Amino acid sequence: MNASNRDPMELEKFSANAHQWWDPSGEFKALHHINPIRLDWINSLAPLSGKRVVDVGCGGGILAESMSALGALVTGIDLAEKPLQMARLHLLDSHLEVDYQLTSAEQLASESPESFDAVTCMEMLEHVPDPDSIVRACAQLVMPGGHVFFSTLNRNPKAYAMAILGAEYLMRLLPRGTHDYERFIKPSDLARMARAAGLHVTVFRGMGYMPLGNTYFLSDDTSVNYLMHCRKP
Ligand code: SAH
Repeated sequence: MNASNRDPMELEKFSANAHQWWDPSGEFKALHHINPIRLDWINSLAPLSGKRVVDVGCGGGILAESMSALGALVTGIDLAEKPLQMARLHLLDSHLEVDYQLTSAEQLASESPESFDAVTCMEMLEHVPDPDSIVRACAQLVMPGGHVFFSTLNRNPKAYAMAILGAEYLMRLLPRGTHDYERFIKPSDLARMARAAGLHVTVFRGMGYMPLGNTYFLSDDTSVNYLMHCRKP
C-alpha cells in the first residue's frame, strides 16, 4: 500500500477554510446540500443502525455525524487536522458520538482490517495522488459481506464544463480551485480499481443539480457527479 498517498496542497486547501465547515452557506455548502440524498441512498442499501462504519476523508464530519444520528457507530478519518478539529468541536453541539482519527485509510486498514460493516469514501478520491491505493484500503477495512460506498467526479468534457466551469466559476457552488480535472475518475476506471481490490460492484448512481430551487437529486446520469456501491464477497 502507498504510505505517502497524500497531497499536502490539497490537505492545506481543506484546512484553510475548515472554520466554515458547518456553515450551511459557506465554502462547504454543496456538501450540506448533497448530504441528505447520499445518506438516504447509503442507508437504503446498508441500513446503518447499529453498524460499524468508517468514513474515509470525513473532513468536518457532515456525513459521519449524519450516519451517527441514524444509529451507526462511526469512525471518521482524515489527514487534514483542522477539519478534524471542527468535526470534534461540532460534536459538542450535536451531542452525537463519532471517533475521529488523524490517520490514513492505508494505515487504518493495516491496523484494523475487516473491522467495519460499511466504508464510505465520499468526494475524496479526486483529491488524492493514488486513488487506487485508497480503494484497496477501503476493501481491506470492510468485513466480508460488508458494503463500500464511493463518490467522485467523472472524467469527460461535460464533467469539466459542469464541475469546474459551472460549479466553481458560474454558479459559485464550490470555491475556485476545489477540483483538478486531472484527478477526475471514469466510472469504468473506478469499477476496475474496486474489482482489482476484490470488491463486487453492484450499482452506480448519478447526482444531478437543479439550479432552480437549488436542489440535488439522484439519477441514472453518471456523466458528472456519481456514486458507486460495492460489496465484499
Ligand atoms: N467526505 C467528506 C469531505 C469531502 S472533502 C464529505 O463528503 O462530506 C475531501 C476530504 O478529503 C477533505 O477533508 C480532505 O482533507 C480529505 N483528504 C484529502 N486527501 C486525503 C488523504 N490522502 N487521506 C485522507 N483524507 C484526505
